[in-house]
This record gives sequence, structure tokens and C-alpha cells, in this order.
Amino acid sequence: MTYMTPKLVKRVSPRQTDITWSDGHQSSYPSWYLREKCMCASCVEEFTGERKVRHGEIPAALERTAVFPIGNYALGFAWSDGHSTGIYPFEVLRALCPCPECLPDGLDEPPERVPKPGSFDV
Ligand SMILES: [Zn+2]
Ligand SMILES: [Zn+2]
Repeated sequence: MTYMTPKLVKRVSPRQTDITWSDGHQSSYPSWYLREKCMCASCVEEFTGERKVRHGEIPAALERTAVFPIGNYALGFAWSDGHSTGIYPFEVLRALCPCPECLPDGLDEPPERVPKPGSFDV
């Protein structure tokens, strides 16, 4: 398998980032999905590899505030919840591709907003 690199990173909206890969494959990533898959030390337990961010904890309304290249091997993202320590190596991003070909079961979209304890919408 050849090493894939992004040819084009498109900021479709704060909630969606599209990547066109060197082999022509197109990936469309919702912000909440990438945030949920963050692999930084504060999101994944260092020794056990256990993920601390559970599905549904990142609301669908999460927005990307920045995307930037890190060397020539990864992309960095910053999110509207203030988190910006995630590094997404290209091969990880490609493996996360949620298109129907790569992920036939599709994504299970979380709630629009995660209610805070003691607060409610009126
Ligand atoms: Zn993280
Ligand atoms: Zn795909």
C-alpha cells in the first residue's frame, strides 16, 4: 500500500473538513467526529490506550476553528471547545475516512448539543 498524502484540504464549513487524497479518494470529516477520535495524551490514557472521550460527549455542533499542517506527515486541528493538542497523522486520517466505501455502516451522529447538568433549553 502506498503512502497517502492530502492533495487538498477544504474548509467546507466550521463543522466539516474535506480532504482529497493523492490517489483521488475524497473524505469528508465532520468536526465532532475528528474531535472524538483525538489521540492526544489528554484524550487517550497513556498506558492503557483507553479513550477518555466517549461517543456522545462531543456534540454535533462542535466547530473547527483552525486546521494547519504539521511537518509533512500530519494535520493539526483546533476546536471550538478549546482543544487544540490533537495531531492527526495522514495515515490515521485516511483510516478514519467515513465515506460509504470505507465505513459502510456510516456515522452515528451525536446530539446537537450536550446538555450541561442543571441547565436546559427553554
Ligand atoms: Zn485530545
Ligand atoms: Zn473513504
